Amino acid sequence: MDTLYDADRMNDPRAIVEADRAHVWHHLIQNKVFETVDPRIIVEGKGLRVWDIKGKEHVDAVSGGVWTVNIGYGRERVADAVRDQLVKMCYFAGSAGSIPGARYAEALTARMPGLSRVYFANSGSEANEKAFKMVRQIAHKHHGGRKHKILYRDRDYHGTTIACLSAGGQQERNAMYGPFAPGFVQVPHCLEYRAGDLAGEGYGERAANAIEEVILREGPDTIGALCLEPITAGGGIIVPPKGYWERVQEICRKYDILLHIDEVVCGFGRTGTWFGYQQYGIQPDIVTMAKGVASGYAAISCCVTTEAVFDMFKDDTDRLGYFRDISTFGGCTSGPAAALEVMAITEEEDLLGNSTRMGAYLNGKLHELMDKHACIGEVRGLGLFQGAELVADRSTREPLEEKKVQAIVADCMAQGVIIGASNRSMPGFNNTLLFAPALIATKGDLDEVVAGVDAAIQRIVG
Ligand code: PLP
Repeated sequence: MDTLYDADRMNDPRAIVEADRAHVWHHLIQNKVFETVDPRIIVEGKGLRVWDIKGKEHVDAVSGGVWTVNIGYGRERVADAVRDQLVKMCYFAGSAGSIPGARYAEALTARMPGLSRVYFANSGSEANEKAFKMVRQIAHKHHGGRKHKILYRDRDYHGTTIACLSAGGQQERNAMYGPFAPGFVQVPHCLEYRAGDLAGEGYGERAANAIEEVILREGPDTIGALCLEPITAGGGIIVPPKGYWERVQEICRKYDILLHIDEVVCGFGRTGTWFGYQQYGIQPDIVTMAKGVASGYAAISCCVTTEAVFDMFKDDTDRLGYFRDISTFGGCTSGPAAALEVMAITEEEDLLGNSTRMGAYLNGKLHELMDKHACIGEVRGLGLFQGAELVADRSTREPLEEKKVQAIVADCMAQGVIIGASNRSMPGFNNTLLFAPALIATKGDLDEVVAGVDAAIQRIVG
């Protein structure tokens, strides 16, 4: 490799750090940061642990930072399956099929009763774009262009492209990227802890009714789809209250609105079932997924639909009657090859069951912390997807200032415990600590994480 870079020099960890500092533009970090501190370079992972280039070990409670590596690091059989597939057939455009693609689409839809068609893409944002385009084309083809609006929820996030940000309910993520695409309309969130007078018995139904009010205001014949996260992830781990989803489904059926569930985070066992929506017994029309599909071992996302949605694109009388969309790398076979192994591991090791059991354990441990630290206002979550909302004052629920929340995350990191926070998303409400470890987590791992958080809160808040 001498011709590409200076191999002697670039074997030195210091040189790697300097090359990174000089040339890599990191995601989601202030560019000035690395003028004074070293970029963190992660070089190895095994199970729930990662090691950085300085040799420091961390327990990772956020599955690769953004809740992705659900099966844990270092799974050789996934790498082997990808290698075997790549040497046989690496790529052909998605207008053709592939053996792993067909196998995966069959296996996936078998775990999603009522859904039958898989459109392959590469990222969560891209999968959501596909769904938005399907909704728009259905509006044009079947409703004279009128039923084109897409509803999204305050505090939800659906991706980083301009259309996804147009459907984004996190103000600070959107700031400075407008103007946005028209035809996206916001509905209220369903966080009971922050619902003020609306909270209490029957809140779930009231929160869903607020969606109906928006539909009636906009005109039901203008709304094509409602796009929601099953549990709002980065927006603060918002678990919808009892009665919410039933009513949401009812409203969608009443006004002939497609229900699009964004499972980019909640899919693949994160909440204890294959998909988050399956916790609630609802039947979506479109489901998008990404992170956990191949657990970070390959870049793949899917937009999965019912047969009825697929059928709306069957029209050989119209030259433009098919879905005129392509994702070049949706034809990569590495994605479904990895995803098949990930699915097999998930079932063989009962990771859905472990997510449920260990999620309950983690929830209990965080509640114990809440007894000890008054700054924890609420603990909420499902499966191995848990959050702790931090407050300056439990009685007023005033959010803990972001600086302190970030200091807790940084203190944990210094201890070798990687956790997350709902940071830089919603002004004033970037105050929820996030926990989403790989679904292989044990009680011992979770004890270590919680002990780190305990010590950090003690130091930062007192
Ligand atoms: N949807 C949700 C719920 C997400 O949390 C994310 C990313 O975090 C996305 C979509 C976008 O996925 P990607 O970053 O793969 O484009």
